[in-house]
Amino acid sequence: MKIVDPTPTVKNPPDYFTGDVWLDPIATPQEGDQRMNVLNVRFAPGARTAWHSHDRGQTLHVTTGVAWMQFRGGQVFEVQTGQTVYIPPGQEHWHGAAPDRFMVHLAMHENADDPAATTTWLEHVTDEEYRLS
Ligand code: MN
Repeated sequence: MKIVDPTPTVKNPPDYFTGDVWLDPIATPQEGDQRMNVLNVRFAPGARTAWHSHDRGQTLHVTTGVAWMQFRGGQVFEVQTGQTVYIPPGQEHWHGAAPDRFMVHLAMHENADDPAATTTWLEHVTDEEYRLS
């Protein structure tokens, strides 16, 4: 057993996010064939991910504020603090803050067989898509 060295907060890579987003890894694989990743992700109002999918799916748990999310082909929907959302493997989606609220969620997903293929990033979510709620 050990206390894991803290990882510095990372500001969003702009290729993958719109607006200001901060990432704090909480759990990452430590050894062997472990796959678990847990990140605390903080979004400024209106900030969101680009469209993307996860090779082995993802679970999101909103801990602060109000989230907006959308699956490809679906409507934008709101997720409240305390709610959990499951995204199946390969399903294209985005997640972010409501326009007028900060939002914090835990993002939990397993690495793909090739860890570099865990998340497939696609195009940005346009303002028009974001507002079609
Ligand atoms: Mn996701």
